[in-house]
Amino acid sequence: MVAMESPKELEGHRFVGDKRIQRVHDLESCTHRDAIDGISASRTYATFGPDELREARNRGYKPAACCF
Ligand SMILES: [Zn+2]
Repeated sequence: MVAMESPKELEGHRFVGDKRIQRVHDLESCTHRDAIDGISASRTYATFGPDELREARNRGYKPAACCF
């Protein structure tokens, strides 16, 4: 499997949330490239600090089905 290239603005982040639907993607295992591109293009993404799934969950994001 080829690692997915992240959009430039998401570089350096692993977990990226979609603010519209409160789902978080793991860029290292996400199989839904279109979803990531869509979030990136519409600038409705959220990033987390620390960049961890636990932090995303704390902020109310649920794991997206395409990654987990
Ligand atoms: Zn995903």
